[in-house]
Amino acid sequence: MLEQIAEGVFVHQSQLLRNNTTVVQGDDGVLLVDPGTSRDELRCLARDLRELGQPVVAGFATHPDWDHVQWYAEFGDVPRYGTARCATFMREFLSKLDWRERAVAMLPPELLDDPPLDGFGRITALPSGGHVPWDGPRIRVVEHRGHAEGHAALVIADRRVLVAGDMLSDLFVPMLDFEGPDPIGDYLDGLRLIEEAAAAADVVVPGHGSVAQGAEIRTRIARDRAYVRALGGDQRFADARVSGPFEPGWEWVSSIHEGQLNVVGPGS
Ligand SMILES: [Zn+2]
Repeated sequence: MLEQIAEGVFVHQSQLLRNNTTVVQGDDGVLLVDPGTSRDELRCLARDLRELGQPVVAGFATHPDWDHVQWYAEFGDVPRYGTARCATFMREFLSKLDWRERAVAMLPPELLDDPPLDGFGRITALPSGGHVPWDGPRIRVVEHRGHAEGHAALVIADRRVLVAGDMLSDLFVPMLDFEGPDPIGDYLDGLRLIEEAAAAADVVVPGHGSVAQGAEIRTRIARDRAYVRALGGDQRFADARVSGPFEPGWEWVSSIHEGQLNVVGPGS
């Protein structure tokens, strides 16, 4: 089901991991940001787009994690953009002979019967200029470190929408890139850029969880910042994403936090 969040902007949420796909109406069709996750969900999205009477004219992947670089044959063979870092990361991944086995190894068990890997990770580097090249509302790309290599948020200023990639979620705590040079500092820098970008938005679409509007946007930024600071500091967390209460069936999300706490170590 597509939920309209602004003029010509819709969100399709998958049940698994509550991934959000953003659909932006352009002059000749739609841009799909991060379509996912199961084959059923992708089929559902394709059906919704048919009902909307809109072909897919382009795609965008906010970052090179499996649940953000998926595609579905029915969407067609159209340019799918990402940052240059994201595109390079995926090109290297796909150059390995065993990439399919490696991709399957990342998938949750629910997807293993029929791994949804159509066109997996085929991302074209954005030409320089910082905007998505398409015929539609102007979309600015805000690249930053923090969650993953080549991560980007998108600002659709005319529609006052910010697509935040895997940040500002009400479901998952900030997930740091511990491979990066300065995981805590990079994440905080990323949040600063997101905060600047959010000044032009009334609606924020996180990669996972519910869409944020109005004052909730500032709350989400403050909560992510407090979490990352606590992780790098005194490790005192006042965050329902760590301690609950959790929706039934979603208690496991606290394991994301526990895993990160193991990496940074007590009092480090
Ligand atoms: Zn994600």
